[in-house]
Amino acid sequence: MQNSSLHQIRPRQHTSASTLVTIIKMICSQYRTNLHKEFSIDWTNCNIGTAHQDNGMETNLTICDICDFRQITKPSVVWCSECDEGLCRECTEHHRISKATRGHSTISIDGYKKLPPTILEITQTCKDHNEKIQIYCYKHDSLCCKKCVVENHNVCKELFDINDVVKDVKSSNTFLDIEQTLAEISENFKRIRKDREENLTAIKETREKIESEIKMTKLKIVSYLDKLQEEILKELSKTEKLESKQIHKLLTAVQQAEKDVTEYQNNIANIKQHASDLQTFIALNQIKHDVDEKDKFIQTLVNNKDLNHAVLSLKISYNVKNIKTSIPTFGIIVVESKSSGITIARRKNQQAQTMVMVPALRSSDFESTKRARDYHDCKQS
Ligand SMILES: [Zn+2]
Ligand SMILES: [Zn+2]
Ligand SMILES: [Zn+2]
Ligand SMILES: [Zn+2]
Repeated sequence: MQNSSLHQIRPRQHTSASTLVTIIKMICSQYRTNLHKEFSIDWTNCNIGTAHQDNGMETNLTICDICDFRQITKPSVVWCSECDEGLCRECTEHHRISKATRGHSTISIDGYKKLPPTILEITQTCKDHNEKIQIYCYKHDSLCCKKCVVENHNVCKELFDINDVVKDVKSSNTFLDIEQTLAEISENFKRIRKDREENLTAIKETREKIESEIKMTKLKIVSYLDKLQEEILKELSKTEKLESKQIHKLLTAVQQAEKDVTEYQNNIANIKQHASDLQTFIALNQIKHDVDEKDKFIQTLVNNKDLNHAVLSLKISYNVKNIKTSIPTFGIIVVESKSSGITIARRKNQQAQTMVMVPALRSSDFESTKRARDYHDCKQS
């Protein structure tokens, strides 16, 4: 099948074929190697950047070059890459039927303008002789004009019409591969952009969630502190009440004892003044007992430390007191790098493409060699 590829090569006019090869080259330089493998073309002979620069003047695409040569300004409607000229309606008609140019294919000026500037700068002429590139020499892997062939490839056998070499470039594996890979890359960029935008939205949403989580946590802490405050205030109040109650109890006892003592004092004063000695003698034991009792009561108060002052104070717990040390930060914001789950399509086995044209050109069967020689001979004559 591969050998038959060369058999399919039929000489035919294909005016913009070599331009197409260069277009591909422009599209993606990474395919240069593949192109070289597939078409075995020496790119160094391309006259990129030298077109439309004749006499230092750029060709105006919008005027007819033929009419312009005759000092007439007419708008061009088509472009002929082979003539490297724009043509007006009348000149197009002449170009279409003239024997020298009837095989030239043309494209509309609008279509031509859509081509990238780098493509527009490509000429199909040999840089050494400034003549149209017509031949491809397989042995030297170079693009040649007729003069190149005569000067440098006179004995070369495998010379091919450049149109035959490049005619299938648009349906070549490399061209299709570039198209598919571009579509794939474009799709990948879309996915990446969508994914990044989703990530942006996600972190914005998460930021809002975290904000409310922080506020909720703070409220919980404040509410917990409120509860602790309430408890300690309750305890304070309870303690004060308890201590006061005890003091009041003691105070009541003291007041009662004081009252008793006052009564005893009155009694003893009255006895001293009015009672008989016998009466005093008999009552004295009872009075002494009562006085001893009150004295003992005071001693008991002293011994039991009931006269100590109750002093209230507050000991704030360590963590509350040193809250700045205990809780130096609210927390930290963690950024994790998680797999996005995005699918990046990659066409594998790029090296495993079927080489359609190379084996054909490399074919050494009789037919291809003969064809090449015939072609060469034809050009020589
Ligand atoms: Zn014209
Ligand atoms: Zn032409
Ligand atoms: Zn040349
Ligand atoms: Zn050669």
